[in-house]
Amino acid sequence: MPALEEFEEIIRRNEPLAPYVHLKVGGPAEMLIQPRTREELAEVVRQCFEQKIPLHVLGGGSNVLIPDEGVRGAVIRLTAPAFTTIEVDGKRVRAGCGASLASLISEASTHALAGLETLVGIQGTVGGAIRCNCSGEIGRFVRRVEVIDARGEIQVREKDELQFGHSSSSLDDPVLLTAEFELDADEPSAIVKRMRKAWIHRKSRQPLTFQAAARIFKNPKGLVASEMIEQTGLAKTQVGGAEISERDANFIVTRENATARDVLRLIDLVRSRVRERFNVELEQEITIW
Ligand SMILES: Cc1cc2nc3c(=O)[nH]c(=O)nc-3n(C[C@H](O)[C@H](O)[C@H](O)COP(=O)(O)OP(=O)(O)OC[C@H]3O[C@@H](n4cnc5c(N)ncnc54)[C@H](O)[C@@H]3O)c2cc1C
Repeated sequence: MPALEEFEEIIRRNEPLAPYVHLKVGGPAEMLIQPRTREELAEVVRQCFEQKIPLHVLGGGSNVLIPDEGVRGAVIRLTAPAFTTIEVDGKRVRAGCGASLASLISEASTHALAGLETLVGIQGTVGGAIRCNCSGEIGRFVRRVEVIDARGEIQVREKDELQFGHSSSSLDDPVLLTAEFELDADEPSAIVKRMRKAWIHRKSRQPLTFQAAARIFKNPKGLVASEMIEQTGLAKTQVGGAEISERDANFIVTRENATARDVLRLIDLVRSRVRERFNVELEQEITIW
């Protein structure tokens, strides 16, 4: 009997994952699951836990590298309306963790709520942004997060229990479900001005929108990873179909013939050159599954 048989309607078995991730490389998921309701999701998580099935949640796929051999177990995507709704109540905004970060920023600015606008242009979902504390910024606006724990139970993590670091958070539950933010009221024109500035800055540095790309390393304390990589002379270096972006050396871009192995070899090359030159160990920002 195939695993999780009772969820056949929402499971795609042996589903290629490359189309769902920004780098456009990697093999299939044993099961790609797109639950329709919170209850269905909680039950899937519970059964995965019970049957010892490995479980991953895929957000926008901008910060994940899928190995060529694919991913064993269940990969969950929170695409149904139950996971993407955004509600505003005064200065509080409650967002489903499957909603895009772009929709959250747009909804907040429509209601003259400030704080998140400097994150404009960052790819991905609310869940992915909170998990990685996007740009070291988003965490300070989070007041509570609803999660599903490994037993399939919905729990609430309050602000006091949460810690956000540089590109990291203490949230280690398997699924982030909703997040509540407290924002500041401000003049819409001032919000739009900051948004425009952040957008122009980000877009002028990052790979072009048609490129398959991902940011690779965290900035070491007080240092800038892209500058260090540039100084090793690796800009534009290629391994197979993977290449260091000429716009920002902390991004890898891939061509159609690229494999996850090419990306991994390029990551190793960068890390060893930076270690030789600066005696600094670069830590990966991208999650390798
Ligand atoms: C072109 C480009 C520009 C970028 N610029 C920036 C930038 O300026 N600043 C910055 O900080 N980052 C940047 N990033 C990195 C990336 O966009 C962010 O880290 C983003 O927040 C990841 O969100 P995602 O939904 O794509 O997550 P994914 O890549 O899908 O997942 C990332 C991790 O979060 C987990 N996850 C996602 N959703 C959930 C959930 N609901 N529950 C539990 N776990 C979950 C995944 O399992 C995975 O471990 C950039 C990426 C690209 C491709």
